Amino acid sequence: MPELREHPDRPVRLLGFWRSSENQELPNPADLVDPAWDEAERLSVADYLEHGQVAGYWMGSSRCRLCSRSNGSRDFTDGYYLWPEGLAHYVLDHGVRLPAEFIDHIELRREVLDELERDVAWWRENAARVEQDRVADVCGFDTEPACLGTTDTLASGKHRSH
Ligand SMILES: [Zn+2]
Repeated sequence: MPELREHPDRPVRLLGFWRSSENQELPNPADLVDPAWDEAERLSVADYLEHGQVAGYWMGSSRCRLCSRSNGSRDFTDGYYLWPEGLAHYVLDHGVRLPAEFIDHIELRREVLDELERDVAWWRENAARVEQDRVADVCGFDTEPACLGTTDTLASGKHRSH
């Protein structure tokens, strides 16, 4: 089974941020366009990019450097890399190619997630605890679960003391 985390101590790597007047060192997306990039791979990479966790918001949305469309105002991350929400658009609609190391990383992450050991007992046990707490909260600790009313009664919070 592949390692769950590659380089866990490494800071998150930024990608898909482009040259601007404030940062001339960054790449220009036009220089990375590869019209020959395999479409299936592009779709797969774009799908991954669209499903990161939100890592932050920018004031106002950014514009695509290649077609000027409004292109998102959030940053996404998978815990290893961090990219602007609009990066999927560059990949999908303009064929802006991303580094091979990142493509390999996506493949590895998918393998890891697919092979995760799954623990179903935790959910069963903790859901049962939620249920018990709910009974105690609604009815008081000394009453039997039979005191529970209908779902409507619960939702209205009639028996809640707080
Ligand atoms: Zn565009």
